[in-house]
Amino acid sequence: MEIDVQLRAERKEKLPAAQFGFGEKVSDHMLVMTYDADAGGWNRPEIKPYQSFSLEPRALVLHYGQSIFEGLKAFRRPDGHIALFRPEQNIRRMNASARKMAMPEIPEALFMDALLKLVDIERDWVPAEAGASLYIRPLMFGSDAVLGVRAASRYILCVMLSPVPPYFVPGGKPFKLLAREDCARTVAGGTGDAKTAANYGRSLVPLDAARREGYDNLLWLDSEQHRFVEEAGITNVFVQYADRVVTPPLSGRILPGITRDSVIRLLRDEGRTVLEQETDIGDLVRDIDDGRVHEIFLTGTATVVAPVDEIGFRGRRHALQIRDDGLALSLYRQLTQIQYGLAPDRHGWMRAL
Ligand SMILES: *Cc1c(COP(=O)(O)O)cnc(C)c1O
Repeated sequence: MEIDVQLRAERKEKLPAAQFGFGEKVSDHMLVMTYDADAGGWNRPEIKPYQSFSLEPRALVLHYGQSIFEGLKAFRRPDGHIALFRPEQNIRRMNASARKMAMPEIPEALFMDALLKLVDIERDWVPAEAGASLYIRPLMFGSDAVLGVRAASRYILCVMLSPVPPYFVPGGKPFKLLAREDCARTVAGGTGDAKTAANYGRSLVPLDAARREGYDNLLWLDSEQHRFVEEAGITNVFVQYADRVVTPPLSGRILPGITRDSVIRLLRDEGRTVLEQETDIGDLVRDIDDGRVHEIFLTGTATVVAPVDEIGFRGRRHALQIRDDGLALSLYRQLTQIQYGLAPDRHGWMRAL
């Protein structure tokens, strides 16, 4: 399928990414694909100036939450080339989220072509500063206007681009997490493994409360026993012991992070034992206090890899020592060097334009 391209007559002024916050700026253009079940499915992708949508108040997404998204990045290399990190994984995961939310899957090759074309057109928006990148945000939602509860028959898929500063830099402030037993991010048999809007809306009240107590984010526990560690905010979590690194299994309740998967590969490449295993919060804080936990770190596209220096649980604070030669910072360097083309890409993760 061809892609329609309609460019702005004049480009907006670009600023260095460091001067603004995450997602504050968008590039000149966006990609839009629409779907209509009654008119042959997906329409021809369009790249056009970034603009508002017009939706009826009855649009199904506004009532019943059929909305999914993704997040990935493009990097500028020292030679000026642009490369994306594992974009095929995001496309695949977006389709998994779509299946879960009764939304149509997007043809992978068509989506990839259109996405790469958009980034190519907007290549000047990929920042050159160290640690900065172009954040790519695909979004899809049900758009038809009826009030009955059912899956939409029409959808809008769009991809917007935002130059972003690094979210965490080595030497930056580590993260403090609060584990609470009175709330959960998701439930068994729910939508925890999909990047769908309600998972995030639901997290804002407890997140706000945690921030008022001086924490950066929540360490989510399972919804049934409030015992097993699941995720931290919107990142996956790893715990390093002397002989092993442990991360929660893909139970259907956690988001299968692409950074999580990449970090597991890098750790196994180093010959480390990585166990995908449930971690009991009571055991974890006892092990922290006994000095058995070397490090806890978070992984995600925005964060990359970031260390944790405190876990709050049942009114007590459990502190961790941050080490400059620790695993979190080593993984941060390894991953970013691959992303910026400064280290060999042994697993074929980078997709150059
Ligand atoms: C996106 C996300 C992650 C991280 O996934 P990456 O593919 O590594 O960016 C982890 N947890 C949640 C809840 C997320 O939404």
